[in-house]
Amino acid sequence: MVKILAITNQKGGVGKTTTSVNLAASLAAAKRRVLLIDLDPQGNATMGSGVDKRTLQHTVYQVLLGSQRTADVRVVATSGKYDLIPANRDLAGAEIEMVNLLQRETRLKEALREVEGEYDFILIDCPPALNLLTLNGLCAAHAVMIPMQCEYYALEGLSDLVNTIKKVRANLNPVLEIEGLLRTMFDPRNILAQQVSEQLQQHFGDKVYRTVIPRNVRLAEAPSFGIPALYHDKLSKGTQAYLALAGEMLSRDSTNAAPV
Ligand code: ADP
Ligand code: MG
Repeated sequence: MVKILAITNQKGGVGKTTTSVNLAASLAAAKRRVLLIDLDPQGNATMGSGVDKRTLQHTVYQVLLGSQRTADVRVVATSGKYDLIPANRDLAGAEIEMVNLLQRETRLKEALREVEGEYDFILIDCPPALNLLTLNGLCAAHAVMIPMQCEYYALEGLSDLVNTIKKVRANLNPVLEIEGLLRTMFDPRNILAQQVSEQLQQHFGDKVYRTVIPRNVRLAEAPSFGIPALYHDKLSKGTQAYLALAGEMLSRDSTNAAPV
């Protein structure tokens, strides 16, 4: 069964795209079939996967509006060995155009039905806002992964996000759950980061991934080459952390699996 994960945080610059691209590559390296969906008009996940957003004829925009089939927009086997539904700035107009469409929150969910049987994981890189695009991500997903930096304002934004997830679960997508909170760009020498990290664990317990993503320059460099960090510097701390995250996710799933 496919697992569809929305990678969401309405704050920008917390590591959503870095997590999407590097987790997709790590799961693909573990022989899982992965589709990454770029749901941000900035198209960073697209560029980071080695696909030039400026030259694309069709993107997730046409998929949401229903004018192209999902399979026809998909880029097969990107630089990270996963498939991609790309995005570019065209997507910025989608929000307004979707407002008057029927079932505007579930357009991505419907569009994914056609291809979801081909994958073990579908990851959705959401934009930095709680808007209609993010809502489409939350309605299409089984669970949410929340990347966050351990800083003072992080917890405040988190309660807005958790409330949104609760509302979506109550009204639109009853299966939606929080898969996990991921500490990103972590610096263990920073006392405040340690304190916020402890608060997170007190509040969310097991929902906080044991794996912590350190601040690592290789993760920041890799997008400029259009490749995940795994193919830029396999031994870097950043690469190893995302491989460990994939391992943690896979082992969590196998322990949670229903007995046969
Ligand atoms: P978001 O998608 O949430 O806006 P990004 O993944 O684009 O965030 O990350 C924001 C910036 O921080 C990018 O320039 C990215 O390269 C950098 N970055 C993300 N994670 C790390 C990390 N663990 N170490 C170093 N730089 C990182
Ligand atoms: Mg991003």
